[in-house]
Amino acid sequence: MSRGELFVLSAPSGTGKTTLIRSLLQGELAEFANVHFSVSHTTRGPRQTEVAGRDYHYVDVASFQEMIVEDRFLEWAEVHNNYYGTSVDEVLPYLERGNDVLMDIDVQGAERILSKHAVADTDPLKTAVHSIFIMPPTYRDLELRLSQRNLDDAEQISRRLAVSRWEIKQVELYDYVIVNREADAASHILASIILDKRHRRTRMASEVESVLEDFKASR
Ligand code: 5GP
Repeated sequence: MSRGELFVLSAPSGTGKTTLIRSLLQGELAEFANVHFSVSHTTRGPRQTEVAGRDYHYVDVASFQEMIVEDRFLEWAEVHNNYYGTSVDEVLPYLERGNDVLMDIDVQGAERILSKHAVADTDPLKTAVHSIFIMPPTYRDLELRLSQRNLDDAEQISRRLAVSRWEIKQVELYDYVIVNREADAASHILASIILDKRHRRTRMASEVESVLEDFKASR
């Protein structure tokens, strides 16, 4: 069986990435996309709509730092004054089993994953990595979404907007871009990127082999 592939997704906060990922994991696309979502660890508290273990593993700062010391993160970063990190356990066992993995990480984390991966000899992932950047259609749109979703206070919103001006320029790092004008269209585009990679002939080798074997056996 061939190794799964890694999809690294980033977007400025408020771009609608969470809705997009949820519809990929739970909606009609879930069966086709069939991807493992890497649940990050964070020191930020859960929001009202979030579920521990589904959206994040919520930990305190001391536990997060212990995991850093124990080398249990593939990458971690400080984002908007909280720590966020992807544990090795959320990614490597799935890739080894042939599952594709989707990571939702900020641009600093993406940069780390992409640069580790670029050094092929020591690549801890040992697989293809595809990076996808989600953009809001306009700055105004981002501003509106951040205030209308009622998740952050005014100070957090202005911090997130200030950071977005830097984040948006990091689009240069990514292989793919989705402009999130409409959630349904955007999640279909994301699914099509994942399916395109999964259905290349090289990746389909073991299934192709079994069909060919079946034809041979039927003579
Ligand atoms: P939020 O607090 O809005 O859920 O996430 C804030 C930012 O942290 C988002 O840009 C999100 O992509 C990023 N993030 C979530 N998990 C991780 C992670 O494991 N590593 C890194 N580097 N960023 C993360």
